[in-house]
Amino acid sequence: MTGKVILVGAGPGDPGLITMRGARALGQADLVLYDRLANPALLAHVAPHGEARYIGKESDEPGERQAAVNQLLVSEAQQGKTVVRLKGGDPFVFGRGGEELEALVEAGVPFEVVPGVTSAVAAPAYAGIPVTHRGMAAAFTVVSGSEDSDKPGPPLDWAALAKTPGTLVLLMSARRLEEIAAALIRHGRAADTPAAVVRWGTLPAQRAVYGALANIAERAANAGIGAPAVAVIGEVAQLGERLRWFDRAPLFGMRVLVTRPRQQMSALSRLLTEYGAEAVEAPAIEIAPLEDTAELDAALGALGTFDWVVFTSVNGVAAVFERLAHQRRDARAFGGAQVAAVGSATAEALAERGIAADYVPRTFTTAAIADGFSGLDMRGKRVLLPRADIAPAALADALRTRDAEVASVAAYRTLKPADADARTRAALGSGTIGAAAFTSSSTVRNLMEALDGDTGLLDGVMIASIGPVTSAAAVEAGLRVDVEAQTHTVAGLVEAMAAARAAAAEER
Ligand code: SAH
Repeated sequence: MTGKVILVGAGPGDPGLITMRGARALGQADLVLYDRLANPALLAHVAPHGEARYIGKESDEPGERQAAVNQLLVSEAQQGKTVVRLKGGDPFVFGRGGEELEALVEAGVPFEVVPGVTSAVAAPAYAGIPVTHRGMAAAFTVVSGSEDSDKPGPPLDWAALAKTPGTLVLLMSARRLEEIAAALIRHGRAADTPAAVVRWGTLPAQRAVYGALANIAERAANAGIGAPAVAVIGEVAQLGERLRWFDRAPLFGMRVLVTRPRQQMSALSRLLTEYGAEAVEAPAIEIAPLEDTAELDAALGALGTFDWVVFTSVNGVAAVFERLAHQRRDARAFGGAQVAAVGSATAEALAERGIAADYVPRTFTTAAIADGFSGLDMRGKRVLLPRADIAPAALADALRTRDAEVASVAAYRTLKPADADARTRAALGSGTIGAAAFTSSSTVRNLMEALDGDTGLLDGVMIASIGPVTSAAAVEAGLRVDVEAQTHTVAGLVEAMAAARAAAAEER
């Protein structure tokens, strides 16, 4: 049975600007094909069974690429899939949506269209520019600035456009703005006509410059404004300086690292976006039992022969006792082994099972743990390290440099993309993260796990906590807490961050 294709407008960037119908379509999709200007954050709407595929490669020749996309839509739908074709803005505004539908009609594939909020209107709106305004503009014209002469179809008549009353909105014009402005002036548009350029409109990276037709290209160039940008020419552009609002939002432009508690769609991320911030989500981890327990079972069979057993997480404790129970054994299996617990939660998990940890490092960093052992002679000591399957080797390595004999054994699986932690570290390492927000102690632990103990990556990053319990977990993990919410809700947390930022700005 043939499936169908739903052509969906993703909106201009802000993930809140997709339509409800569009979000629902994403939830129904077996396959989502998205391109460069569709915000990947929207993929959060895709159901677990849905596959998302990026097909926005810029390198290929555009005509060939379009034919390949058409072919892909047809063949995937013919396999019975519900395919969502997700396109930036509105799919019919310079989106080649019509061409894709023609291919579908030809192949007899059913389709639907979900219009989107176009950047032609939304980018100006987020820069405080209404495209029509009583007494200023009773019409607006949207044109493509990249129209070139060797393309089929009527070329743009710049002489006519120069004389068209109302607002002129240019898409795909970043590179040719100077040339276009000159042509408009040459054809009679006043050089002092107000003008503005908005790059990455509706996103935390939004950048707007305001000026006049005669100088807007230069101003945009000086501000380093390239694609994707919308240019607005006409009286309304002057309203921007008075009506701009988005880039004055309390957390505008701030990138905030958010660790999601398992599975949940983050209410925090949504709220941060409303405050103008960009939520950078470190993916949640899920814990699963090992598929093959042979190595762990063998290590546990000789548990009493180790000098030390080092637990770095509650999960490791749970997994070890689970396997011991399987072998009909209990805490006595530790025999004379000393036990170390990283973090008080881990120590508590051990205590619940009748084991008082011999050593609990004060800070949750690899260096601190290893230092803790440095007072002891670890030479030749046998250490068991029950760990996550993808745990980094840093702790084992540190112990080995002290000549310990380390058995680093996977005790449980973490289900998350293998490179997720590396990506989180890279995001922090890039120096673009302004804040990290924590809504529970487990979000602190998750991030610490991702950082592999390297709290230095959070230097200069505003640490915000939802309340005293979470703050205590952060402090225990070796972090300093800059902001603590007075009302212990997600809204209270974001509010506190906004207040802190305002205070910091005042000081400067
Ligand atoms: N279908 C899209 C337009 C696709 S053409 C829409 O309706 O919005 C691509 C052009 O759209 C870019 O060159 C740029 O001019 C504009 N554009 C898309 N998203 C934008 C954004 N967030 N900010 C500014 N311009 C954007």
